[in-house]
Amino acid sequence: MPIKPSDSEEEYFARQEAERRRKIAEERQANIQEEERERERSLHFMKCPKCGMQLEEITFGDIRVDKCFSCEGIWLDKGELEGLQSKEPGFVGRLFKAFRA
Ligand SMILES: [Zn+2]
Repeated sequence: MPIKPSDSEEEYFARQEAERRRKIAEERQANIQEEERERERSLHFMKCPKCGMQLEEITFGDIRVDKCFSCEGIWLDKGELEGLQSKEPGFVGRLFKAFRA
């Protein structure tokens, strides 16, 4: 006589299977998100956040800023504002003057 799995066994295996499928779905979702992030990153790398045009990296002393020659925006990376703050008085003014059209 075949052994019929008990209800609790069926429930256990169904739960196991559901958990396995959930993990697969989560991994798939994470991969899609990572691909999406990578696509966004490469699409927007060194593009002006304001107007979307190409940014140019300009060095002034030991400070490097990303400058947009389309909308004239100037963008700073992490830590660069702090770097500017530690400069001698007048540095920022000279920096802006150098980039003015
Ligand atoms: Zn711009």
